[in-house]
Parts: sequence; C-alpha cells; structure tokens
Amino acid sequence: MPAYKRVLLKISGEALSGDKGFGFDEEMLKSVATSIKRILDEGVEVAIVVGGGNFFRGRTGKNMDRAQADYIGMLATVMNSLALQSYLEAEGVSTRVQTSIEMRQVAEPYIRRRAVRHLSRKRVVIFSAGTGSPFFSTDTAAALRAVEIGADVLLLAKNVDGVYDSDPAINPNAKKYDKLTYMDVLSQNLKVMDLSAITLCMDNKLPLYVFSLKNTDNMVRVIEGANMGTVIS
Ligand code: UDP
Repeated sequence: MPAYKRVLLKISGEALSGDKGFGFDEEMLKSVATSIKRILDEGVEVAIVVGGGNFFRGRTGKNMDRAQADYIGMLATVMNSLALQSYLEAEGVSTRVQTSIEMRQVAEPYIRRRAVRHLSRKRVVIFSAGTGSPFFSTDTAAALRAVEIGADVLLLAKNVDGVYDSDPAINPNAKKYDKLTYMDVLSQNLKVMDLSAITLCMDNKLPLYVFSLKNTDNMVRVIEGANMGTVIS
C-alpha cells in the first residue's frame, strides 16, 4: 500500500539537466518519467511542479528589471513541463500541462477544479509557469498548488539527499536531519525552500519530504513509506 493518495512532486530545473547543469538530460527525463509511471501504477495521484533553473533564473541586470527576468524564468518552467510531458506520454502515461500564464495553443490554463478532475482520472497534471506572478519561486508555486489540490504531501526532489545543518558540499561534517518542524526550518534559517513557501506549508499543515533525485528509484521508495531524506511537519 502506498503511503500517500495524492502527492505533489516538485522537481527543480537543475535536476532535469542531470550532471550538465544546463538544459535537458534525456536519460534523466526518461528515468524521472519511468519512476513517475511506477508511482501511478501503485495507485497514487501525481501532480508535478517543475522549476526552470536549468534555463533561466530571474536575474536583474543593467537593462532588465526583476519582473521581466522573472517572466523569462516562468517561461523556462513551461519548456521543462512540455519536455517532461513528452517523456511521460512516451511511457504511456496520460498527462495534462496547465499554465499559470495563459498560452492556450500550448497547454490548458490553470483551473483548480479541472486539475483535480484530471488527477482523479489518473492523469498526471504538470503545473507550469510558476504562480504566474513575478517575485515568487517555483517552490512557492509547488506549495500553493499542493494546498489547492489537497495533496497529502509535498515531495521535494533535490540534488542533495535531505536537509543539513550546513552545506554538505562545503562542510564534510555537515549533519543531516531526519525530521524537522516548520519552526526549526524558519528559526535556523535552513535552506529548504524560500520563506513564503515554508510558511504556506506551515499555515496549511502540509508535510514536506525532502529527498535526492540522484537515484530516481528514491521517488518510488518515498511513496512506499521508506525512511529516508528529511521530513518536515
Ligand atoms: N518565477 C517567478 N514566479 C513564480 C515561479 C518562478 O517569477 O511563481 C521565476 C523566478 O525568476 C525563478 C525562475 O522563474 O528564478 C525559475 O524558477 P526557480 O528558480 O524556482 O526554478 P528551480 O530552482 O526550481 O529550477
């Protein structure tokens, strides 16, 4: 029996680029799609938010303000969503992409009730273009959509295998946490998600499960209730 009925999976854009750090990695997309198919086959409803960091991150510059850069970032998430959609459909998974900025020739606009209906019909729904507003992140979009669709958990697939007290890439003695409260994350300023995303989860008692996507099998293990990564509740 899977541990959850409905999940929202947040995949950073960087995770889709594999070791390249930019663009798509075909093997990675294929292996993410295969694992998602396995989760679906266990009877879990799956919604996804993909980041855009592998193409563009909102950066201000001399000739570009923050809002404009953020819109480019949101469009990057649409590219990732369409790529993931193709790889999922190649696995025989039925999918819909919904965008928070209307582009009807490409995908459906975001309509909450419609998304929930797709999920109940075992379609994977990929929410793209973030929240549709600049000055937010795809983490906030993931928390918001998860709460809106009544997901049981927000699964944060990252390049690291959980939350540490300091950056494990810099500090070899960094300690990994198995369990944390939202307040721990806020008071210790732990790098999990940005503050608006964490507070949204806290206000709505949405548990977070942080784990590594380096091995895409982990996704399936998390769904099966394995004790790994870091749980925040
Ligand atoms: N973005 C935004 N509003 C949103 C979501 C995303 O403006 O609701 C922009 C923001 O510039 C962000 C970029 O899109 O830097 C890409 O998303 P993010 O960096 O969160 O992607 P990830 O790090 O997960 O790949």
